[in-house]
Amino acid sequence: MNAITTAVKSLANLIYPLRCASCGKSLAVTDEVGACGFCVSRIRPNPKPYCRSCGRSLDDAHHLCPGCRTSPFYFSRAYSACLYEGALKEMIHAFKYKNNRILASLFTSLMTDFINDNHEIIDTISVVTYVPLHARRRQERGFNQSEALAAGIARAFGIPVHGCLQKTSHTKNQSELSRDERLVNVSGAFTASGSGAHAVKGRYVLLVDDVMSTGETLNECSRALIEAEAVEVRCLTLARGL
Ligand SMILES: [Zn+2]
Ligand SMILES: [Zn+2]
Repeated sequence: MNAITTAVKSLANLIYPLRCASCGKSLAVTDEVGACGFCVSRIRPNPKPYCRSCGRSLDDAHHLCPGCRTSPFYFSRAYSACLYEGALKEMIHAFKYKNNRILASLFTSLMTDFINDNHEIIDTISVVTYVPLHARRRQERGFNQSEALAAGIARAFGIPVHGCLQKTSHTKNQSELSRDERLVNVSGAFTASGSGAHAVKGRYVLLVDDVMSTGETLNECSRALIEAEAVEVRCLTLARGL
């Protein structure tokens, strides 16, 4: 950071003090992460071994979790870097709903480190895409948090990123619904058409989102990508809900 940038940021920090997105502690102007070191150290990785379908943490590496045994997904496999809890949950909330975009670089580095430890996630992947927001919600929020994460990952690994999916219906927030309601809520809500469909046809696709819980949103997006003739869809999220 050069002296002028530091001076401008110091001035801005006097007016809008930079605070940790989790605990609220004041941060130094040179701290570009958006969270204090203590809160970053509290972020827990999704513990291995994982379900070989949905990526949920399991006791036994060679088994599917009970949900995946009875109802398989359209994606071949999903992975989540961290657990959706505590400090990270608060940071993701600040990122999505309080427009705290400075956190994007921390989140992207957590995901790229995870890919480096699990390189099969991006082997053969030739396009990165993301869960879209409905146009109205995107306008309200000003950005799509999943698009920001996908762009960071694509840049890190030199893979093209493409907005392949559209959200065609305005759905309720999945976190407010039961599992059965979630399934109905997002059913048929996504489509890949035009240049989006063209970008995935015959390709191995990495689908990125911020949080996975039951997997219904990622499954419906994967269905749209498979219907657009993607060869295979793998999913990666920053965090995994319990
Ligand atoms: Zn903190
Ligand atoms: Zn599973």
